[in-house]
Amino acid sequence: MIVRLTDAWQEVLRRRAANSTSGPYPLPVQELLGEMTAAGVLMQANIKFNGSLILQIFGDGPLKLAVVEVQSDLSLRSTATIRGEVAPGSTLPSMLNLHGQGRCAITLDPKDRLPGQQPYQGVVPLTDAQEKPLHQLSDVLQHYMLQSEQLQTTLVLAADDQVAAGLLIQRLPLQGAGNLEGHADAQTKEALHEHYHRIATLASSLKREELLTLDVETILRRLFWEEKLQRFEAAVGESAPRFACTCSRARVSRMIEGLGEAEAHDILAEQGAISVDCEFCGAQYRFDAVDAAQIFKPLGKQPPSSDAVQ
Ligand SMILES: [Zn+2]
Repeated sequence: MIVRLTDAWQEVLRRRAANSTSGPYPLPVQELLGEMTAAGVLMQANIKFNGSLILQIFGDGPLKLAVVEVQSDLSLRSTATIRGEVAPGSTLPSMLNLHGQGRCAITLDPKDRLPGQQPYQGVVPLTDAQEKPLHQLSDVLQHYMLQSEQLQTTLVLAADDQVAAGLLIQRLPLQGAGNLEGHADAQTKEALHEHYHRIATLASSLKREELLTLDVETILRRLFWEEKLQRFEAAVGESAPRFACTCSRARVSRMIEGLGEAEAHDILAEQGAISVDCEFCGAQYRFDAVDAAQIFKPLGKQPPSSDAVQ
């Protein structure tokens, strides 16, 4: 599976740059978040999960959190929270895994979650099996796929200020035989093993520069010219990945409700209003004393809402 985000990715960056408080992302964060955004789209498109796929990396360095959410229709949003100085040339370990506490989490949150049903979440550290820090997001995700899903995966990711792109090669389970080789005989297993490794090696030879600048057609021809390719239809136009934010005034209301009435009153007394900015799209929500009083009206007097989570 291959993805090349242009408009959607530029929209993420444009909105961040327009935020006068944060300003644009430092280059190393831009690159990492772009790679995460491409990876999120690849993973969502790959599993076709009916709900949101949330890829998060949270760390103990100057980059506190980077997150991308991709819905089943491939609409996406992503953002990063920075709490310190991100030096030029910073690496994944120096931004996120300074003291070994960095983690990568993938959450699958079903669209029609039943009451009490928890979203599925898998978490891995940003280190390999020998606990050595991983330097590339692609390594972290490959490690995640193997550890959490028992799926062999090869990822090539790259991003700059125009394009966020990625190539994903995954070894699919044999039909009806469980993961990987399942119950196939030794000869079949050996052949499948060879096929996967040949394809994975070809994919890994793709250079960052090629992934960013070449069109899909050229990339596939360069990598797999000796292979028999069966092409699937590309998601373009309305079904293509695009930027969309799921924030709303109703969701922010529920967040304020979650703070509790006392806390909300304190903020109102101090600042005159409760202001919440969406980190993803930059939308600003403002609640004055009257709005806040509406939120904390006794139950039963509020209009019903079907929206359950922020
Ligand atoms: Zn928003």
